[in-house]
Amino acid sequence: MADIIQLLPDNIANQIAAGEVIQRPASAVKELLENAVDAGATEIKLIIADAGKSLIQVIDNGKGMSETDARMAFERHATSKIKQIDDLFHIKTMGFRGEALASIAAVAQVELKTRKPENETGSFIEIENSHVIKQEVCACAVGTSISMKNLFFNVPARRNFLKSNAAEMRHIIDEFIRVAMAFPQIFFSLTSNGQEVFHLEAGNVKQRIIQIMGSSYNAKMVNVKEETDYMNIHGFIGKPETAKKTRGDQYFFVNNRFIKSAYLNHAVNTAFENMIAKDSFPSYVLFIDIDPSQVDINVHPTKQEIKFEDEKIIYAFVQAAVKHALAQFSVAPSLDFTLNADIQSLEAVSKPFTEEKKEAVSNSSNLYKTFTQKNQAHFIEQNDSGELKHWKSFFAESKMQNAEGGTQLNYENEQHSAFSVQYSAYFQLNNTYIIATTDNGFKLVHQQLAHERILYERYITAAHNKQMPTQKTLFPATVELTPVDAALMNDLLNDLNFIGYHIEPFGSNTFVIQGTPADVLQGNEKHALELLLEQFKHFSSDIKFSKREKLIRCMSRQQAIKEGQSLSQQEMQQLVTDLFNCQTPNITPTGNPTYIDFKEDYLLRLFGK
Ligand code: ADP
Ligand code: MG
Repeated sequence: MADIIQLLPDNIANQIAAGEVIQRPASAVKELLENAVDAGATEIKLIIADAGKSLIQVIDNGKGMSETDARMAFERHATSKIKQIDDLFHIKTMGFRGEALASIAAVAQVELKTRKPENETGSFIEIENSHVIKQEVCACAVGTSISMKNLFFNVPARRNFLKSNAAEMRHIIDEFIRVAMAFPQIFFSLTSNGQEVFHLEAGNVKQRIIQIMGSSYNAKMVNVKEETDYMNIHGFIGKPETAKKTRGDQYFFVNNRFIKSAYLNHAVNTAFENMIAKDSFPSYVLFIDIDPSQVDINVHPTKQEIKFEDEKIIYAFVQAAVKHALAQFSVAPSLDFTLNADIQSLEAVSKPFTEEKKEAVSNSSNLYKTFTQKNQAHFIEQNDSGELKHWKSFFAESKMQNAEGGTQLNYENEQHSAFSVQYSAYFQLNNTYIIATTDNGFKLVHQQLAHERILYERYITAAHNKQMPTQKTLFPATVELTPVDAALMNDLLNDLNFIGYHIEPFGSNTFVIQGTPADVLQGNEKHALELLLEQFKHFSSDIKFSKREKLIRCMSRQQAIKEGQSLSQQEMQQLVTDLFNCQTPNITPTGNPTYIDFKEDYLLRLFGK
């Protein structure tokens, strides 16, 4: 009967749309900074109060807006950056969806002051909940100043979802750095609660990297630069020694837009293969310039994910460019590009090029030719150190290390016979496994995983309701972190303290380690702490655990003896005894088995008996 469908009022529609674009203060920061860049500013100042929860302000000296534009800018789908659908494929600006200001005005109290250089006076607009409250002529500087107060004041549910100030500030700094890194020719500053956190004079890419990542990078960067007709890459990679335990300084920009791409990140990592430890991350700041028609940036509202027309070519190009740079600076011993068989069978490799691309390639630089010859798009380093080798060597080289006197052990673990396991001898296999014979077979114990379980239960008990003991460091080490990691560190200080660390902030982004948990080796404090942060970050998406639980899990993993460590007879015995004294001896905190039981009847069956 009665019709029931209605159009949503603008303010509600805008609020819903805002959910996609503005998830947290940092998303608004990104949008406002990008608008200032698009306006051609040479100076951009970001002012934050209360981690953006009470104030985010961006002041630029760009081209400003006319009175009408200033009002229009807050309408949904209002943009000066595209006019027709075709423009979508030639985007040269950061913004183009015309949603940011409309979204911001829907969820905050916004004030805008803006003036074009050719005008004597500017415009002032106050807007709240998508309603214009005031618009008037005003005196102001050339450019635009936009401030948004009390983010999500009218959406309490979202406001409640915001994280601690330290966490939100970390996101803001992330976004700030991403924009500032991409535009080194622009001056940027960031002031938080009245304190200037960043002051970045205009310069070149290298100078900007040093301003942001620290002057210690100066001598540790290798230049990357390859130009072809299809795409260019330029920027810097850190020498292998700058690889970190924390995934901090990794930046990819495509046409100056920061993007997240696990795929391209992998390309860089593999170029560094065998030059850095497996659990560490190379630093890099790389800019890819490519014809905008070869990428689709409109696949995600925040535009941090993009689609390439031909992703595999980009991968190969990035990898080759990084290898080339490493080789040129004699960081890598040699370049050995051979084609991996798995890759060879991929369709993109056997017929990677359209006619146009072939044409584009034919007069391009040498590097690009190297991987377009023979229609081979994918050169990767010959790698026979993969899993196969691992297993081969495991069998070929494994020696049963029967420590002397294995049969005349003292049975210190007699009191644990409740576990009905009487160990007669311990053997170490490949410096990784302990074979503990039992009265009806043997147990194959993984030394690292077993130790992880033991430490975990020990820490949990120790931390149950009192602070864990600290050993004072003899020579307090200082750690310098990236602003992002420093924010995380501040967030964790309390809990780190509880598990036995004693860490003090020491100026911007620097911390002094005064004490560590008793298990951490003296002299190793810094490394241990960096590793802990890194592991913590891997956990952080997991909301099931408290910070403290996460830290304890990380620390047990970190402090556990590792594969490859040779153990004495006594150490093996201790480890096995401790393991079976645990409440849950059979699995690690994350659920991997710590040992496997080989019982006699099973062994007999294996032999067909
Ligand atoms: P988009 O950036 O996608 O076009 P926004 O909602 O972010 O959408 O901005 C809408 C319009 O407002 C922009 O297209 C631009 O014309 C104008 N604008 C926004 N910020 C500024 C600024 N800082 N200086 C000049 N013009 C601006
Ligand atoms: Mg914009």
